Amino acid sequence: AKPTGRYLHKDHQLWVPLTLADFEAINRCERSLPKNFNFAGDVLDQWSQKEKTGERPANPALWWVNGKGAEVKWSFGELGSLSRKAANVLTKPCGLKRGDRVAVILPRIPEWWLINVACMRTGLVFMPGTTQLTANDILYRLQASKAKCVVVSEEVVPAVESIMSECPDLKTKLLVAPYSQNGWLSFQELFQSASAEHSCVETGSQEPMAIYFTSGTTGAPKMAQHSQSSLGIGYTLCGRYWLDLKSSDVIWNMSDTGWIKAAIGSVFSSWLQGACVFVHRMAQFDTDTFLDTLTTYPITTLCSAPTVYRMLVQKDLKRYKFKKLRHCLTGGEPLNPEVLEQWKAQTGLELYEGYGQTEVGIICANQKGQEIKPGSMGKGVQPYDVQIIDENGNVLPPGKEGEIALRLKSTRPFCFFSEYVDNPGKTAATIRGNFYVTGDRGVMDSDGYFWFVGRGDDVIISSGYRIGPFEVESALIEHPAVVESAVVSSPDPIRGEVVKAFVVLSAPFKSSNPEKLTLELQDHVKKSTAPYKYPRKVEFVPELPKTITGKIKRNVLRDHEWGRTK
Ligand code: ATP
Ligand code: MG
Repeated sequence: AKPTGRYLHKDHQLWVPLTLADFEAINRCERSLPKNFNFAGDVLDQWSQKEKTGERPANPALWWVNGKGAEVKWSFGELGSLSRKAANVLTKPCGLKRGDRVAVILPRIPEWWLINVACMRTGLVFMPGTTQLTANDILYRLQASKAKCVVVSEEVVPAVESIMSECPDLKTKLLVAPYSQNGWLSFQELFQSASAEHSCVETGSQEPMAIYFTSGTTGAPKMAQHSQSSLGIGYTLCGRYWLDLKSSDVIWNMSDTGWIKAAIGSVFSSWLQGACVFVHRMAQFDTDTFLDTLTTYPITTLCSAPTVYRMLVQKDLKRYKFKKLRHCLTGGEPLNPEVLEQWKAQTGLELYEGYGQTEVGIICANQKGQEIKPGSMGKGVQPYDVQIIDENGNVLPPGKEGEIALRLKSTRPFCFFSEYVDNPGKTAATIRGNFYVTGDRGVMDSDGYFWFVGRGDDVIISSGYRIGPFEVESALIEHPAVVESAVVSSPDPIRGEVVKAFVVLSAPFKSSNPEKLTLELQDHVKKSTAPYKYPRKVEFVPELPKTITGKIKRNVLRDHEWGRTK
């Protein structure tokens, strides 16, 4: 039988396992996808083999702490045998079959990784969600996906119970908790008695593997379905060149389990490179715990949302000595150049920004070794051909603002999502001529660096000028009074719409005279960027509306301004 995901080696007439070099070649479009591929069998089990032969340093595959003394360290070998047990739980007592969808709503606990890998081994479609989902959110997800099984932690039980009568497809409810509960199978109990013998399913490389939800920054989250290879092979170059990982590294990616950033930083990119995935249970972000963790553990690589860095630079970071930190990353939202400069001044470390989407992964990045231009998202990454296009799908020259788009070759790139589940209309709307359109606006400079202007809907048109909110926000944050801000359009009887800034003040400025400070901030923006962009209206607010992933929801503020509040 043909072993999973392997090539017939030309010289030896033997089946040989795929190597990292093969995965890189596939990403560079220099070789074709294998017919079959399974991330657990073809990547994780290979690392476990390398552990045995000493080709991989003694670095855990998963290192989990809860900040209260509990700790879990698994090698790839242990992750292998434990996830085989979990696979047997899913297929035997839970009765799940290849292709079934499993909604997994768990906090950052080791079982999330076990069940994720168990789903790969059994060909189940893994559908993560954050524990902050409400009963209604869960209902929407279970109904839309026709999930057969839901796996939750104790805090999610009441929400599921309140809606499960409306989910006829839901067959199995699995609880991950130290106790059992009526109507629920107990993962812990079943896991104890499950066998560690399991043979990995030979999944097709484009067989569905997971459904990730978009962040919901602009509306209801969309369900983007991904294949074994889109996530399992597609993140090879990103792990090597953006995250700059080797098998001796320890990466702490702070994303919640529900989003694609968890898949990128805490599963696929990191484990492709054989690195250790570090996890802190931390239910809510806390600056002191965060700084303690970096000074205590040998974390080499840090990935977090810009909002975290914006908060951190308010602290005196020079007082801390991070144990091993050498590479810092951010993405998901634009990073203000001022924050990058302050982080660098205080820690001596650069901040490497990446730009991507749930649907297609990393699109642009500041890769290790490339010169960073503060405020830019870096250059387009392989295998993508990233361009700026106009509304008719024509490529625009450097310096011209337009929509960020990816050129499509004759076949759909393998690292693309396969579809928005049950929404062919929305899936088709992402294609314009020969391009996939991101919905984001930007500019490419003559060196090939991309500069984010704003989401399509966030761009403000005032007296005929087009104004991107990010540039104004970045100008504002240069002022010591500003921790962060959100810039949106606001109605104006003469100009149609004007720029309005919602500003969160830093502690020393909280009691300043608001009129005076408004004038000062307006003056500052006029000096720092083209004067027509300055905010004609300024409102000071204690905080900004954000998604669970920490992104600013400008649409909420904008709708409020225009009286469109629901
Ligand atoms: P939804 O599609 O549900 O409204 P979302 O677009 O925020 O939510 P994600 O797929 O998590 O969902 O995020 C992708 C988007 O995040 C990008 O299209 C872009 O608008 C923004 N983004 C990601 N990284 C960056 C970055 N480095 N700079 C600017 N924007 C970024
Ligand atoms: Mg989106």
